Amino acid sequence: MIGTLDAKIPSGPLDRKWQSHRDHSRLVSPNNRRKFEIIVVGSGLAGGSAAATLGELGYRVKCFCFQDSPRRAHSIAAQGGINAAKNYQNDGDSVYRLFYDTIKGGDFRSREANVYRLAEVSNLIIDQCVEQGVPFAREYGGLLANRSFGGAQVSRTFYARGQTGQQLLLGCYQALCRQVAAGTVQMFPQTEMLDIVVVDGHAKGIITRNLLTGKIDKYPADAVVLASGGYGNAFYLSTNARGCNVTATYRAYKKGALFANPCFTQIHPTCIPQSGDYQSKLTLMSESLRNDGRVWVPTRKEDCQKPPDQTPEQDRDYYLERKYPSFGNLAPRDISSRAAKEVCDEGRGVGPGGRGVYLDFADAIKRLGEDTIRERYGNLFEIYHKITGENAYKVPMRIYPAVHYTMGGLWVDYNLMSNLPGLHVIGEANFSDHGANRLGASALMQGLADGYFILPYTLPNYLAGQMGKRPSTDHAEFKKAETDVHAKIDNILRVNGNRSLDSIHRELGTLLWNKCGMARNAKGLREALAKIPELRDEFWRTVRVPGKGQDFNQSLERAGRVADFLEFAELMCIDALERDESCGGHFREEHQTPDGEALRDDDNFATVFAWEFQGNGQIAAPKLHREPLHFETVHLTQRSYK
Ligand SMILES: Cc1cc2nc3c(=O)[nH]c(=O)nc-3n(C[C@H](O)[C@H](O)[C@H](O)COP(=O)(O)OP(=O)(O)OC[C@H]3O[C@@H](n4cnc5c(N)ncnc54)[C@H](O)[C@@H]3O)c2cc1C
Repeated sequence: MIGTLDAKIPSGPLDRKWQSHRDHSRLVSPNNRRKFEIIVVGSGLAGGSAAATLGELGYRVKCFCFQDSPRRAHSIAAQGGINAAKNYQNDGDSVYRLFYDTIKGGDFRSREANVYRLAEVSNLIIDQCVEQGVPFAREYGGLLANRSFGGAQVSRTFYARGQTGQQLLLGCYQALCRQVAAGTVQMFPQTEMLDIVVVDGHAKGIITRNLLTGKIDKYPADAVVLASGGYGNAFYLSTNARGCNVTATYRAYKKGALFANPCFTQIHPTCIPQSGDYQSKLTLMSESLRNDGRVWVPTRKEDCQKPPDQTPEQDRDYYLERKYPSFGNLAPRDISSRAAKEVCDEGRGVGPGGRGVYLDFADAIKRLGEDTIRERYGNLFEIYHKITGENAYKVPMRIYPAVHYTMGGLWVDYNLMSNLPGLHVIGEANFSDHGANRLGASALMQGLADGYFILPYTLPNYLAGQMGKRPSTDHAEFKKAETDVHAKIDNILRVNGNRSLDSIHRELGTLLWNKCGMARNAKGLREALAKIPELRDEFWRTVRVPGKGQDFNQSLERAGRVADFLEFAELMCIDALERDESCGGHFREEHQTPDGEALRDDDNFATVFAWEFQGNGQIAAPKLHREPLHFETVHLTQRSYK
């Protein structure tokens, strides 16, 4: 079906590719735009910005989300900031440097051309958001303020306290509402996409379930855009909003879209440690805190249970500063997370169960005063206080790594189009620009780059050849997809067992965390691959989902998502096993340098893995396609932050 994967990267010098591509892409004339219907699944920063921009251009857009308002998309949770190469600090930043840091940060597993374009458009995002009134933090003189995030030696992160996602989403929501009022965008909140419809090989519609009434509907379109976010909740416990799931992308995968690098998961180093077995969610403490907080553990195991102020300075191990003197506490996430795991595995962790390290603000408070720290991070300290009951102005925070972001996603070419013509994928839902490890503050940049500045140019390139090709919902493919959706819902309700959804999902999450989490090895992955089908079988025999389909039924909603996680988890482990090297967040214990860093194998694995579903009910044994990665500007080197 699919030959060699062609990313359709434009020819020419790296810094001219995007301009030249725009110059040569096909256009849709203003009068014709209203003849095209575009479905956008997702109203977070990626989907919301795409829907608003396409509406403004004159297309007719239908935008779907499962929350009761687009304003509640998970993007609202983003705390620390958004990167851009403005060089307001005059500290040596440039488009090239942001590009380079991102390629290196991703451990050389992303596409040069995409990443360069991302760095190029980063500055436009800030301008656009400022015009919208996003209240970015400012310096005394009025210029926008910046702070640093991991993996960079410049300050390029724009922020609005610890609520950057919320403020950016409000800006985006205003733009979206303007289009709703203008009649170009129709919003469908509390509506979940359960399948895409493929007609003659092109994505031409979706099947949805109204979450309030249970009604199943069919929507045709000229193109479908998935902006459905990441799948970190496969692990059950993560920093993601509880609703985040893999359903939209996984069901597209089952309809022929390739899933790229599904095992690339980001484990964030600074989260509030898990406090009990029945916890349903973990909470991030933004990476921005590492601008002023110092990470340490006691040098001696015997000091670990003492209160932190009883461990004198000379008995503390500021292990990030010790191991990575150039980047110190701002070493990238994959590296900082592994370093935290390492000291805890040595028995030097603090807090209950020894699964924690300190993030200490005492020096910064001494230097800058408590008020300055409160101004910078006040809401994060408040969240920490509410959850732990501890005052982090007085005692160090306790943090531990947790699942946070997924670099894997549906495979897309340079136009952000999947291998299924008409199906475009943006934001965290695509396999994106972050390679094997995303740098902090780059997800918001990517989501908004995709939605405001890239898709609006690349989508017309597809649409220009599609005039009059939108099918009617009477088409057999719509009927078949609708029947399949009904059947899946009926099957879930029919089980009528006695085991709770949460207990099955939690068991899956624990398995993934232990075998396909911060460290993986072939033996563990094989064990997980043996266990996951058993758990899936258990789900289909014993799960209890009360209520009915034609009604408001949150258990049913969640059951569909957990059923997809139970299939998708297998793909994650297959991918992790096949990638027999370490890179970024994918740390295969068999492949490490003498000092415990990830050891890549560029000869065999400088490539994207993109998996094709084989159909016939077969979940295992998907077909592997490769997209070789070519590095023409950046030289492949062992990543070092020392
Ligand atoms: C706690 C936290 C803090 C973060 N802080 C930062 C930060 O400071 N800087 C940064 O760059 N990144 C940060 N990130 C990452 C960043 O927030 C996300 O990667 C980004 O917001 C994802 O945006 P998105 O638009 O792709 O998806 P989302 O915001 O997740 O939106 C997904 C949308 O898809 C919809 N959807 C999903 N499935 C379906 C379906 N089947 N049917 C209908 N609708 C569907 C949802 O309703 C939602 O509208 C943070 C992440 C977390 C968890």
